[in-house]
Amino acid sequence: MTDTMPQSLAADIVPSYVCGAWWTPPQGTTGTSIRDTSTGAEIARVSSEGLDTARVIEYARTVGRDGLGALTIHQRALKLKELALYLNEHKQSLYDLSMANGATKGDCFFDVDGGIGVLFTMSSKGRRELPNSNVIIDGAVEPMSKDGSFIGEHIYSRIPGVTVEINAFNFPVWGMLEKFAPAFVAGVPSIVKPATPTSNITAACVKLIIDSGILPEGSLQLIAGSARDLLDHLDYRDMVTFTGSKATADRLRQHPNVQEGGVRFTAEADSLNAAILGSDVTPEAPEFPTFIRAVANEMQVKAGQKCTAIRRVIVPHALVEPVVDALAARLAEKVTVGDPRVEGTTMGALASFEQLRDVRAAVDSLVAAGGQIAYGSNAWDAEQRGAFLSPVVLKWDDNRVEALHSTEAFGPVTSVLGYDTVAEAVELAAMGDGSLVATVCSYDMGEAGELARGIAGYHGRIHMLNRDNARTSTGHGAPLPTLVHGGPGRAGGGEELGGVRGIKHYMQRTAIQGTPDLLTAVTGQWHRGAAQNRVGDPAFGGTPEGENGAIHPFRKSLETLQIGDAFVSGLRQATEQEITDFANTTGDVFYAHTDPVAAAVNPFFPGIVAHGYLLVSWAAGLFVAPGRSAVYANYGMENLRFITPVGIDDSIRVELTAKRITPRETEDYGEVVWDALLLNQNEEIVATYDVLTLVAKREEQALGGENTAQ
Ligand code: NAP
Repeated sequence: MTDTMPQSLAADIVPSYVCGAWWTPPQGTTGTSIRDTSTGAEIARVSSEGLDTARVIEYARTVGRDGLGALTIHQRALKLKELALYLNEHKQSLYDLSMANGATKGDCFFDVDGGIGVLFTMSSKGRRELPNSNVIIDGAVEPMSKDGSFIGEHIYSRIPGVTVEINAFNFPVWGMLEKFAPAFVAGVPSIVKPATPTSNITAACVKLIIDSGILPEGSLQLIAGSARDLLDHLDYRDMVTFTGSKATADRLRQHPNVQEGGVRFTAEADSLNAAILGSDVTPEAPEFPTFIRAVANEMQVKAGQKCTAIRRVIVPHALVEPVVDALAARLAEKVTVGDPRVEGTTMGALASFEQLRDVRAAVDSLVAAGGQIAYGSNAWDAEQRGAFLSPVVLKWDDNRVEALHSTEAFGPVTSVLGYDTVAEAVELAAMGDGSLVATVCSYDMGEAGELARGIAGYHGRIHMLNRDNARTSTGHGAPLPTLVHGGPGRAGGGEELGGVRGIKHYMQRTAIQGTPDLLTAVTGQWHRGAAQNRVGDPAFGGTPEGENGAIHPFRKSLETLQIGDAFVSGLRQATEQEITDFANTTGDVFYAHTDPVAAAVNPFFPGIVAHGYLLVSWAAGLFVAPGRSAVYANYGMENLRFITPVGIDDSIRVELTAKRITPRETEDYGEVVWDALLLNQNEEIVATYDVLTLVAKREEQALGGENTAQ
């Protein structure tokens, strides 16, 4: 092994990055050729022959996991942002290699910038929506005993092994980063196995990442080459995230380590995605050209080599010919096939010559099954030497032919078929046996809703398109990091991305049962009923401020504030005059606060009651510390529930407890969530909620060293 990557990346064997060094197979290994798909020239060779895969996995399990485990979720997420900025600066080399693989500039943007975009999104989501620790609480606490001493909840923690990411050839950069990013935030080391035909591009991206020096060692390894023994060394601790054809997914699922060994296996496979044109749309409607643009675009981008591309265009019978004609006109106007490095090219070659052969064979089989080529040609111009294919539009007399709904021609190929009723359109879309995405294009809200509800169970994503979002839509074929990508049935049955869901896919959910103190110890978040350090009114167990060094928790910075630090107030009575004044000053004259007769008839109130927002305001007046404090701002409130009404002459008191403390990695403050509990004079719960605040990290920042009771 070597410390540096061989310089001749573009003309030699594509190296792997394993166990902290660049590795190439023994001298004399032939490997598989990677060709410039426009010129046919060999540009690299790939082989993993002789690689000790078991050692690579062990390295991830030890060095990789240790490095990742030393950081918190926020620290890892921040590294992703750093990495995204670095790759943004250095992406031109990836564009250059991608163009030799038939990608136009727009295709490069989709793959390279799309991948970098996932890093940014996962970084931001991880820091904004997850705690700065390594345990995520999932959902609410479940009370399981009357006295509150036995409670339960769910937590997520990282899976104990590694993730092996087997990727398809069509997105060498995005395909890697969209899996690596969430796994990294979760704290799970990635071993990336790109598809052979574009592994040189993935390797170049990994080289940039390693050169950046941003990641902890062992968190990302690359195996370039076929690595057919990869699954042999995995066990129940590990996960395989596969992207590729259904055939390969089915084969890998049969591996004994998946079948019997408990390896977690998730697949993103192929899909006969549909686009449905609503029966309300006429050729004159604004939706018609919008729909045609969407379909043509999906054929052109990446030369139709997208798992999400539209393979079946389902339109009202009467519109089959107009749609075919409009599609043909659009493709003729917009698509110029050729070498992406040549000015004017708008669609490049397919990603390999094998791919060209497979797509042409698939088109031949569709024609044999009854498809008629209405636009384009399946012929290959050998003189051009590249893996070029024109866009092909097929139309069908029989919309039920099995091949139409099952043969994926993974290139610039689509079929147009007719339907009679909304129910038939749904049925036809469902004949894909489970798809990644469908577009529904209609301006009839009733029909659009019916179509979407009808096909939702067969799809992972539905893209609803009409004149109102024609300009702003990100398009049918673009999986978004904030939304789930994946689909049922043939599409693989897997799920990726979807914001922080994508991170949780690399974590194990565990139910935890115990006392509030035990759950607090496990999660680092205070649970109601757990130990508190109570400052405030002695009548309710508080130590008065200043006595025995007691400090109001608002006066503590993140240096000294602990979860469980609490302020308990005394009681405060509600008077009719105050309720009336609040009604008059705010204009909230709802009868329950102003009309004793009407209020008494209401089944929930004994008579006039205080406004809920008045109670919340009184609570703030009760818990806020007078004078300077370490709290910078109150930025909101969550989970507010009013439970027992407060009538005239009732009293309330508040208990405010530091529940969750999240220092921000890049700021001199952090977030503190406070559990607020309002009780009445009978100790009944009046209201509960979380108060969200920003608190200084250091005492002198906010208090200038005045950390004493005012
Ligand atoms: P593929 O032939 O199924 O290969 C996918 C990956 O599996 C490649 O990295 C391949 O490596 C690897 N592989 C094959 N057999 C293996 C084995 N026994 N052990 C370990 N790895 C193995 O698919 P492809 O031709 O690269 O990609 C095109 C297909 O992917 C299309 O059908 C497309 O619809 C689908 N796709 C789906 C999504 C999605 O998100 N759902 C995204 C993109 C593409 P080698 O290249 O070294 O053989």
